[in-house]
Amino acid sequence: MSLDLTGEGLAVERQREDCERIVRSREWSLVETYVDNSISATDKTKVRPSYDRMVADFKAKRFDALVCWDLDRLTRQPRQLEDWIDAAEEQGLRLVTANGEADLSTDGGRMYARIKAAVARAEVERKGARQSRAQQQRAKQGRPPRGVRATGYTLDGEVIAAEAQAVRAVFEAFATGTSLKALAAALSGAERLTREVGDKTHIQVLPASVPVLPTRSGQPWNPSTVTGMLRNPRYAGWSMLAGEIVRDESGRPVQGQWEPIVQDSLWLDVQRRLDDPKRKSNKTGTDRKHLGSGLYLCGICDRPVKAHNVRYRCAGHVMRTRAAVDAFVLEIVRARLARLDLSDLLPTVQEAEIDQLHEQIEQARGRIERARADYRAELIDGPLYKEIKAEAEASIQRLDAERLSLSASPATAAILAAEDPVEAFDNADLATRRAVIDMLAVVRLFPAPRGLKVFNPDTVKIQPRARARGLPATEP
Ligand SMILES: [Zn+2]
Repeated sequence: MSLDLTGEGLAVERQREDCERIVRSREWSLVETYVDNSISATDKTKVRPSYDRMVADFKAKRFDALVCWDLDRLTRQPRQLEDWIDAAEEQGLRLVTANGEADLSTDGGRMYARIKAAVARAEVERKGARQSRAQQQRAKQGRPPRGVRATGYTLDGEVIAAEAQAVRAVFEAFATGTSLKALAAALSGAERLTREVGDKTHIQVLPASVPVLPTRSGQPWNPSTVTGMLRNPRYAGWSMLAGEIVRDESGRPVQGQWEPIVQDSLWLDVQRRLDDPKRKSNKTGTDRKHLGSGLYLCGICDRPVKAHNVRYRCAGHVMRTRAAVDAFVLEIVRARLARLDLSDLLPTVQEAEIDQLHEQIEQARGRIERARADYRAELIDGPLYKEIKAEAEASIQRLDAERLSLSASPATAAILAAEDPVEAFDNADLATRRAVIDMLAVVRLFPAPRGLKVFNPDTVKIQPRARARGLPATEP
């Protein structure tokens, strides 16, 4: 009898009495009583000393009949049950249960025993699956996951104010260019590090008011535990399971029944930074070394350009001198930031637009999925699959950027709200300046006419984002 919380364990004595009554009614003599209290009959790895002793006693022919209260008290392992059935058939062991339903000396009793053992076995196997299904169901309903507490929340999903402040500060600091390493050190409280932004300006990595946070393991924070925090969709109010955002039938993220700690736009911005392969976690700055790499698009194929020596390049399409392009882009952006109507740029909530973009992103993902299925079914060949995939991924990247631009991150919002936005922009770190450019416009580079040494601004097309009114547009 496995001990459980219902107190059934107390019933062992009653079970023994039932069995002894059968022994008396059949006028057998009681040789021995075997009790393995609170040891599961299911787990093969569990040692059941009395069971083993009983097997040994049977082999030593100490008894020729066995009474058990229920078959699942004897064993829940079909193989062991078969041994007892064999013993019943070949050596004449009489095995009966106290509920009277299994008598291994009859066909019907043996069949009953086998069915019962199989059901018991399946029940055990389903239990594991059921537990994870229950978790899945919780996640689909947007309820907080059981048993794990994320920093910032109680087990029930209630916000812990001080921790939530720390979580928010970590997201904001990472979004404005602080490295994971610096964040880990600052969170562990060893020192409240400062880092340089712009010229000789130092800011603190985390505000002094942010409490020192313990980790679950008790170890100091490290880049990997900080990443775990930044990757957690719960903070943006999205339900998650096994590290993935849970989606409903239409592919929308399921909203959790808890209060978000960070805005979803900030969370998405942070994911994009984490995904950036050029990010160096061991440096103070995150992100790329150049203003436009991965941000400006190739005017021919619409994919992001890469930095190549002193140039921006899209292989086979475009090769432009970085300094000249950057100077031109910065000039346009500064001109826009110098205007008074900056509040126009501050995002309003545009749910419909965001939803529409989300849908387009899902469609692009669907294209990749279908192409993969077609490739597996040998309907299309490898190169075509790669082409479809690259195309869809490029448009996902574009749509994602568009979606992010619909709401400003705290860093860009701070620039727009500054007393002198142009100065604030010039003093901002590279990641923030890139974010501001990205919010204002899409920059496309076209090939420069051969032989022309002077920078021709007509070859850089700066297309204002829908909301960024007043940005001077340029045409190629
Ligand atoms: Zn290109």
